[in-house]
Amino acid sequence: MATAPLSGFFLTSLSPSQPSLQKQTLRSSPTVACLPSSSSSSSSSSSSSRSVPTLIRNEPVFAAPAPIITPYWSEEMGSEAYEEAIEALKKLIIEKEELKTVAAAKVEQATAALQTGTSSDKKAFDPVENIKQGFITFKKEKYETNPALYGELAKGQSPKYMVFACSDSRVCPSHVLNFQPGEAFVVRNIANMVPPFDKVKYGGVGAAIEYAVLHLKVENIVVIGHSACGGIKGLMSFPLDGNNSTDFIEDWVKICLPAKSKVISELGDSAFEDQCGRCEREAVNVSLANLLTYPFVREGLVKGTLALKGGYYDFIKGAFELWGLEFGLSETSSV
Ligand SMILES: [Zn+2]
Repeated sequence: MATAPLSGFFLTSLSPSQPSLQKQTLRSSPTVACLPSSSSSSSSSSSSSRSVPTLIRNEPVFAAPAPIITPYWSEEMGSEAYEEAIEALKKLIIEKEELKTVAAAKVEQATAALQTGTSSDKKAFDPVENIKQGFITFKKEKYETNPALYGELAKGQSPKYMVFACSDSRVCPSHVLNFQPGEAFVVRNIANMVPPFDKVKYGGVGAAIEYAVLHLKVENIVVIGHSACGGIKGLMSFPLDGNNSTDFIEDWVKICLPAKSKVISELGDSAFEDQCGRCEREAVNVSLANLLTYPFVREGLVKGTLALKGGYYDFIKGAFELWGLEFGLSETSSV
């Protein structure tokens, strides 16, 4: 099954760009009283509204008032500065009643840091600053240097790949395979597993596959396993006897129980690490087989518009393997 070259972006006829999604700012005025009045709604009125959600802010986080995001540790700040910051936060509690929970948590955090004395020894990681700098770098080096690409992507997407990858922070497929924006429709989860078709248990994954295949019309679905996968290690370690010790993880990794069974039967005497290494690959094959339980995937394979591929990224060796799943009718051989 031919794989389309990665030489460009195909953004013309297949673009499923969302039909005129009109972003309207919902105002909590009486005229829209029929709307659900959930307090978690992301709708927002003007900035002076008293009902601005505390967690979903209708403004750039970079513009958030500093006292909400910080205390802002810097190397020059001594204990006095921390205490000042704590006092400022306490003041904030009084002034901003709706921020009480957030501010109280900050006070607790700041106090704990002060008591342990660790925060004055090293520069603390600032998650907001990290994101801010990351975006600034991306925008300067990528976004603004490639207006043609981002201009096309503004109109819609037509990725050639759907990719299943592990949530592991070391295996981002866009980094490892140098996917450019618009090139891969990605689902990441524990141990890069594709569950079988199940509308009740696995609707999230099913929706992603359905959208990728039927609407984006991806030509390839690639399931990528990786070395030292914690999810696979869990699959190989958990007794999976029904007495779960986790709320979600054991039930999730059980998706690839057939891979574990195969590895145990074939490598039962091998070292645990070797078993895990094999299972990391076998689990990919189980996921490829599970993809066949989706009717629209089967249809794409039969029509030749879709190919399934397995991959394995070994970040210890710096190696990548790719294999295909052959599917189709063999030619009739006449005797
Ligand atoms: Zn993993």
